[in-house]
Amino acid sequence: MTAYKKVNTICPYCGTGCVIECTVDTEHNRIIEAKGSPDGVNNEGRLCLKGLYGWDYLNDPQILTRRIQQPMIRKGGKTSPLQEVSWDEAIRYTADRLNAIIKEFGPDSIMGAGSARGPGNEAGYITQKFMRACVGTNNVDHCARICHGASVTGLLGVIGEGAMSLSVPEIEDAEVIFNIGYNAAVSHPLVARRIVRAKKKGCKIICVDPRKTETARIADIFLAIKGGTNMLLLNAMANVIISEGLTDTDFIRQHTKDFQVYADEIAAYTPESVAAETHLQPADIRKAARLFASSKHTVTLWGMGITQFSQGVECVAACANLSLLTGNFGHYATGVGPVRGQNNVQGTCDMGLLPNTYPGYQEVTDARVRNKFEKAWHVSLSPNPGLPLTQVPEKVLREPDPKKRIHAYYIVGEDPAQSDPNLPEIRETLSKIDFVVVQDIFRNKTCEYADVVLPATAWGEHEGVYTSCDRRFQRVHKLLEPQRGCKKDWEIQCLVAAAMGYPMHYDNTEQIWNEMIALAPKFAGATYEKMEMNKGIQWPCYSTDPADKGTPYLHKGGTFATADGKGHFQFFPYTPVQEKEDPQYPLSFCTVREVGHYSVRTMTGNCRLLRTLADEPGYIAMNPADCESLHLKRGELVRVISRRGSTITRCLPTERVSSGATYMTYQWWIGACNELTNDKLDPKSHTPEYKYCACRVEKIENQ
Ligand code: SF4
Repeated sequence: MTAYKKVNTICPYCGTGCVIECTVDTEHNRIIEAKGSPDGVNNEGRLCLKGLYGWDYLNDPQILTRRIQQPMIRKGGKTSPLQEVSWDEAIRYTADRLNAIIKEFGPDSIMGAGSARGPGNEAGYITQKFMRACVGTNNVDHCARICHGASVTGLLGVIGEGAMSLSVPEIEDAEVIFNIGYNAAVSHPLVARRIVRAKKKGCKIICVDPRKTETARIADIFLAIKGGTNMLLLNAMANVIISEGLTDTDFIRQHTKDFQVYADEIAAYTPESVAAETHLQPADIRKAARLFASSKHTVTLWGMGITQFSQGVECVAACANLSLLTGNFGHYATGVGPVRGQNNVQGTCDMGLLPNTYPGYQEVTDARVRNKFEKAWHVSLSPNPGLPLTQVPEKVLREPDPKKRIHAYYIVGEDPAQSDPNLPEIRETLSKIDFVVVQDIFRNKTCEYADVVLPATAWGEHEGVYTSCDRRFQRVHKLLEPQRGCKKDWEIQCLVAAAMGYPMHYDNTEQIWNEMIALAPKFAGATYEKMEMNKGIQWPCYSTDPADKGTPYLHKGGTFATADGKGHFQFFPYTPVQEKEDPQYPLSFCTVREVGHYSVRTMTGNCRLLRTLADEPGYIAMNPADCESLHLKRGELVRVISRRGSTITRCLPTERVSSGATYMTYQWWIGACNELTNDKLDPKSHTPEYKYCACRVEKIENQ
């Protein structure tokens, strides 16, 4: 008789952190069914289509043949084919090449990228420990750099904590939701459900977006802003709140500093002064500002429509300023929500896969902290912050001193040849790096440049912990026996470290987790046991005492995580986008998501069910008037061209998009929109300006 088991685990897709109940046929090592678990605090028994159907690549025999099942090496150099080798040979080869590069160019010539997806927090901890303690550099980063890096930096400056200040369930008890640059229905469908429920309970919604999104459809005020002008609107709303006396003066006096300096600067940003550039009516800006200030339960939600601009950090700070002005911090159902995209991107930040912080957001430049890690890891550590991954091209292509160049890149569960901006330059960069290691589940585009490919276990084949967007650590359980030949991500990097001369050994993920929480005070009380008992634990959780069940919302009573406990107003003037439309490239171009797919589709692109819903080559959404002037019909193939490259996709006329603007889903392998995107960075967070560049669209004749 076939044996079945039911296992609760966490969805591997967006950061909502939905709990999935999976039925597994243990005899045939297959998942039979997935449904939402009532144990899920954020999903309450529901799932979106990715959670329901996004796992069939683990069962499908044809797809499984595409999994990497044996380590591979290019034995004859860069231009030779990848050849399968034993694990022993692959580990030895990788260790020897890395050691040789360290010997010749030093540890800072090696870059490491961790994964915010399937591997989990323990694997993330091992990646940063491998880079810091074994290689000897802080050059470690991950995809938060290209999405919500600006949220972390921007919030740290104002309120001292770079994460969502409230919990997902609190969203439905908000009285006002200020939704800016965030399309929840596509990015986080189970967060979108909370927004809809809030609306049903009487919440008023302000939606700011250049496109008419699903949230815009139910908004009380929809501000169809011109892309790239967020700062003008945010400063103008602050201007109205201050000039009309709508501030919470007691909160400002007791819990903030630098208000007057901020208010003096904001005085210039009247709604009338920003109307032309934002394409908004002054009366609508005033209405939005008054509504924002009308409640002590105003929640601000944003996504990459705020962060993926060259002024992303400053716009995040401007969002936090609005909550400080109106006393919208420190109690239930209020505050700021940078809703993190990938399932474990919050966790990967938590684990210190950042060039400037150890696990628990402890600065690498702090000698006391560094000393603690040195003692625990029995090694001396670099005091210098490392390289953000978006600066790798600079350090490969334009660094004149060979000693200061990046000579090796160890990439875990990422695909920069698909996900990073300005792909022509990324390809040139990868081809010029002496030694590239890719550790992943499928052969991705970056494998074309890899000297070594190491096969890792997929979601469902290992256990660990993910952190959801609202700081909730949740246990991830193993469903299936791993595919033949694959090893766990943390296990692989422990083997490489040992072969390089720095032994790292763990029997299981709990040992890794316990080492991590012993070093990170914010997480010290979040044991596996407490996570299981409490349906997850939201950090900070300082004590192992069962009574400490974590922190659903931050900054209780108006005490912020800054050194002086105050919220710090920060004024920033508006800076325009880096590349504007011109006669040669007359349209603006912005990247967006497709609801049925995830990131660069390493997983969902191999799911039959999700591919039947949406597949190559994606589309470019354009206003019907623009389509007409270019003689384009729905579904016709077009070539989209920017200053950096071009790509082919299909035309999608839609009134949701204003004339002059275009939007393209970023997930397709053929029509990769990052052929076009601008690699200009926010100077503070080094996040690229994915959300705005100039392009032109040409019809492909004779199709
Ligand atoms: Fe998974 Fe996000 Fe969908 Fe929940 S909302 S099922 S976490 S993709």
